[in-house]
Amino acid sequence: MHELSIAQAIADIAARHAKGRRVVKIEVRVGHLRQVVPESLSFAFALLTPGTALDGCELQITHVPAVGCCRTCGARSVLEDFPLRCGRCEGLDIDLVAGEELLVDALELEEEPTTGERVHRGSHV
Ligand SMILES: [Zn+2]
Repeated sequence: MHELSIAQAIADIAARHAKGRRVVKIEVRVGHLRQVVPESLSFAFALLTPGTALDGCELQITHVPAVGCCRTCGARSVLEDFPLRCGRCEGLDIDLVAGEELLVDALELEEEPTTGERVHRGSHV
């Protein structure tokens, strides 16, 4: 159940930056290769937040596809599964461009309901 520890880390980051203000929404980006199940992450998050500044907060999870650049033929392809393999030449010598992200992309705090001020960007969990 690694989603629970990820949810805890996200909650910790949000609480630290909110400094006691209510958090309305948290946007997180999760790379495909992290193999996080969004439903499990949302569920774990909902277990942690009651009674905290994050109570009722929306957790928006953006899935980031894994993309690799082939060192052999130069093609870029979306990588679905291990082993990571070039979509054109099926080579295994791949430079990973995206897919390993796991970060809190943005927080929305209650004070700025109309502008949704971005107080913080890009904290790795
Ligand atoms: Zn290739």
